Amino acid sequence: MAAIELRGVTKHWGGSTALHGIAASIPAGTFCVLLGPSGCGKSTTLRILAGLETASSGQVLIGGRDVTALPPAQRGIAMVFQNYALFPHLSVADNIGFGLQVRKTPAAEARQRLHEAAELLGLTPLLSRKPSQLSGGQQQRVALARALVARAQVCLMDEPLSNLDAQLRQDMRTELRELQQRLGLTVVYVTHDQAEAMAMADQVLLLNAGRIEQAAPPRALYAEPATLFAARFIGTPAMSVLPTGALPPHIERPANAHWLGLRPEALRLANPGQPGAMRVSVRALEYLGADLVLHCLLGPHALTVRTPGHTVATPGQQLDLQWATHDSHFFDAQGRRLSPPAST
Ligand code: ADP
Ligand code: MG
Repeated sequence: MAAIELRGVTKHWGGSTALHGIAASIPAGTFCVLLGPSGCGKSTTLRILAGLETASSGQVLIGGRDVTALPPAQRGIAMVFQNYALFPHLSVADNIGFGLQVRKTPAAEARQRLHEAAELLGLTPLLSRKPSQLSGGQQQRVALARALVARAQVCLMDEPLSNLDAQLRQDMRTELRELQQRLGLTVVYVTHDQAEAMAMADQVLLLNAGRIEQAAPPRALYAEPATLFAARFIGTPAMSVLPTGALPPHIERPANAHWLGLRPEALRLANPGQPGAMRVSVRALEYLGADLVLHCLLGPHALTVRTPGHTVATPGQQLDLQWATHDSHFFDAQGRRLSPPAST
């Protein structure tokens, strides 16, 4: 399995710049997620990795080999797209084996690889069906099987689950991750869904407007967001961000702090008048069963609190909030993290 390196990769389209020098290192056998809002450059990065697009400058290395100038077929990669790209007139077996035929793999070996992949993905009973006779999840598995039989060193996936319904997405996440680990695949996976990224990744590359905002494992991204953008992008409900000027004076802060980020789940209701607490008013409630989400106000500033579902609160009520020191995320005026690393 191959490690991947991106060195100063840029991409211009006419006058506009889609990627401003992406540098990243993806260890072999790991699951890396390219995460970010629509239009931030995820697909462009993946397509440059695949060789479907050429970088304006910079280098791409796969398994230590500079593949920047090589066509897709010579890069040892397989791609799985959102729309699966299955041939409707071919059976499942022929869809899976298509690439092997094209590459003139000997028939006996092709048959063996096909049956291994089908067995692995639970497709053996479906081999004679046509794609139209499969569910979305089964079609996704056929697309995956095709990538597996190719014995690619690297598997690239662009929003592969986004056409599936919520429950199936959830199941496929687990299934894909389990498969990647069992086979030791190197996977680069594009999504705009932060929950998907958090659930699947060894490493997340968070992109914003063609730049890497933060590259980190999910836990570090959550516990120590490097920027305000990362802080707001990761976690649901989203982190609340308050200007430090709006805080009561007793709340300690670094000298150059401009913003305080607080995660909804880090806030606790304090006893009324408890020293060190912060008073807010409840604006609206959102009951979710396990949780009750309180939409609060500190002066004009919105603040979200996640409490257990059995909590009783009413709109207009005043509440006192407290939180652990290590749950304060301070940022400077440029949105860069100031607080010391949180303990996890
Ligand atoms: P994402 O996958 O993160 O949604 P993309 O990588 O598709 O974003 O696009 C990044 C930026 O590059 C966007 O501003 C998009 O409009 C632009 N872009 C993508 N493909 C092309 C293209 N073929 N020609 C011109 N601009 C493009
Ligand atoms: Mg895209």
